[in-house]
Amino acid sequence: MSRFTLPRDIYHGSGSLEELKNLKGKKAILVVGGGSMRRQGFLDKAVAYLEEAGMEVKLFEGVEPDPSVETVMRGAEAMREFEPDWIVSMGGGSPIDAAKAMWAFYEYPDTTFEDLCIPFNFPELRQKAKFAAIPTTSGTATEVTAFSVITNYQTGVKYPLADFNITPDVAIVDPDLVAQLPVKQVAYTGMDALTHAIEAYVSTLNGPFTDPLALQAIEMVLDYLPASYHENMEAREQMHYAQCLAGMAFSNALLGIVHSMAHKTGAAFSTGHIPHGCANAIYLPYVIKYNAKDPIAAKRYAEISRRMGLAGTSEKALINSLCKKIDEFNAILNIPKTLKDFGIDEEEFKSKISTIAELAVGDACTGSNPRAITPAEMEKLFTCTYYGTEVDF
Ligand code: FE
Repeated sequence: MSRFTLPRDIYHGSGSLEELKNLKGKKAILVVGGGSMRRQGFLDKAVAYLEEAGMEVKLFEGVEPDPSVETVMRGAEAMREFEPDWIVSMGGGSPIDAAKAMWAFYEYPDTTFEDLCIPFNFPELRQKAKFAAIPTTSGTATEVTAFSVITNYQTGVKYPLADFNITPDVAIVDPDLVAQLPVKQVAYTGMDALTHAIEAYVSTLNGPFTDPLALQAIEMVLDYLPASYHENMEAREQMHYAQCLAGMAFSNALLGIVHSMAHKTGAAFSTGHIPHGCANAIYLPYVIKYNAKDPIAAKRYAEISRRMGLAGTSEKALINSLCKKIDEFNAILNIPKTLKDFGIDEEEFKSKISTIAELAVGDACTGSNPRAITPAEMEKLFTCTYYGTEVDF
């Protein structure tokens, strides 16, 4: 038995933010991040639409990137005081992720992060409030997914929450909100979306409901990401939809070891943070070569390549074309080919990589990867991504 869950309503198109005025309720709390939505006037618009819906509105502002346990607890406390029947979150992944966790602690004050971390073990939500999500970047797709990541800065532990209870009720995918996205973010989040779609398509949990979404997302990213990066607004709109389609696929089919590797290296090196989408973009072609040693995965990568009209007739040639296409995109988007080119120090890499490899194997995304991997193989794979050497094991 498999389950396929999406938000009940996905509003999309320029100006669809206005749909907020048709929500039915008495009180809405609006959870947002830094000031960019306020500066661009979208925060005021959102508040005005919710008031037009007849709701009393409370703002919860300042959710930080990689939201903390403390922020979640403060938000849940604000919700318990205000008692909203709608939680509306607007932002890049972080405010939406934070609001999902606040929602659980609002409805179940006695629950703990440790309980919520057990996959698909949430208590029944929607006892007090429903949830609307409005993305302002084009990558994470948290507006349609069953996932949220919260960081405990005291212990350095990330809590990956996964449960269909936190799949939002309403998603509003309005391209006006990403028109001013910095091009670096367009590049990174766009490659994150491509990685979501490819990993979902080859995941052990792939299926007839997620495959078409994944393929369509891949096709749209290939068609539109370079132009979106070069500030073409029609392409940027299509990328906003493409990342959402990829999200629908991976929320139900899950991901693979590209994400395991990105999760465990994002904050691992003293030379600075590796942005999530950038890490994925670096690792993706190496992981395809590793996974393609599995015959079932090889068939599916070749199928992606064939469907996208890439060159080749043999499985091997098709897979090579797919990897070449990703290399080509990384070059267009100014994403480095290796961790070394990214600027990770060689000695630091060597001293940390065996621990990182072990952590990556233990990541929640490894379970649905099409080919099993040992810590020793993971270390070898990381070493290939550092020096740009061929994956031949
Ligand atoms: Fe991702």
